[in-house]
Amino acid sequence: MDTNIVVMGTERVGKSALTVRLLTRRFIGEYGDIESIYSHSFMVDGREISVNIWDSPYSGDLSVETSLFEKKVQWADGYILVYSICDRASFNTVSRLIQAIKSTKDYLNADKAPIVIVGNKRDLHHRRTVLSEEGWLLALKTDCHFYEVSAAENYHSVLMVFHGLMDRMKDAKLTM
Ligand code: GDP
Repeated sequence: MDTNIVVMGTERVGKSALTVRLLTRRFIGEYGDIESIYSHSFMVDGREISVNIWDSPYSGDLSVETSLFEKKVQWADGYILVYSICDRASFNTVSRLIQAIKSTKDYLNADKAPIVIVGNKRDLHHRRTVLSEEGWLLALKTDCHFYEVSAAENYHSVLMVFHGLMDRMKDAKLTM
């Protein structure tokens, strides 16, 4: 059976850059605003798994997009929530998205919800407005995993995000 992952966050935080990096190992710079579902196979713990990744140019305004948001949340087994370390509003949106996902899915064990938080654009440290510590604290408060990465500079950190989510999904299946 396929595993469904949705990548969410405000515009321009690097959702497409992260998705394309994961799928192709490349960073191409500009991606457009196309809503896409990509299918790909990965080796995880020596096993091949098929993954569908929904790269979703979510605007961050939950009230405008409620039904589409719910559709994405119900479709997905795991969530990658992205903000830019240079954009505080995008960080605040991630915080709201976590609460909204948890209440939409109505998990029995919400502290094991398969959500990872990603602070992207780590290479732009001179323009940083969200401290790493704030990302860690949000992850601690919401029981999510946290990674700071640069889709522009590093494939391996992006791969770690994906593997972190897969681990989290395995845990979630055991306890929900
Ligand atoms: P999306 O709207 O969230 O899908 O964002 P995109 O993936 O389209 O990226 C928005 C802009 O940020 C593009 O100009 C990307 O080249 C740039 N970008 C994405 N990730 C990074 C990163 O890690 N570092 C830097 N410096 N720029 C990035």
